[in-house]
Amino acid sequence: MHELSLAQNLLDIVCRAAEENGLQRITVVSVVGGELGGIVLDALQFGFEVTKKGTVAEGAKLLYRELPALIRCNFCNHEFSWKAYGYTCPRCSHRGGEMFQGNEFYVEYIEGDGKEEGTNDTN
Ligand SMILES: [Zn+2]
Repeated sequence: MHELSLAQNLLDIVCRAAEENGLQRITVVSVVGGELGGIVLDALQFGFEVTKKGTVAEGAKLLYRELPALIRCNFCNHEFSWKAYGYTCPRCSHRGGEMFQGNEFYVEYIEGDGKEEGTNDTN
């Protein structure tokens, strides 16, 4: 299952980041995915719930933000929504452009608690 391996990768990244930042407990994991990545949020959530058990992210909440697929016209450089216009530029009607957003998947940020309990560091 695609989302399960995705969740596994996600956990690896998150746990490494927690280690580097001296976090003992992760509370929030925020990820960003492109519209065309085909991510099923429910499946990703489920995968995350399963894989996070026994890790520093056990109590973490998964947040997900989807980025729309965007095309840049290779005639006039106008940027537009792939969903709404496909590859046909709404400004100059040129057909053909480059998709520069819509397939990504990455961790935007994580939140967690550090080692010293009781100290409240506000950055
Ligand atoms: Zn154009």
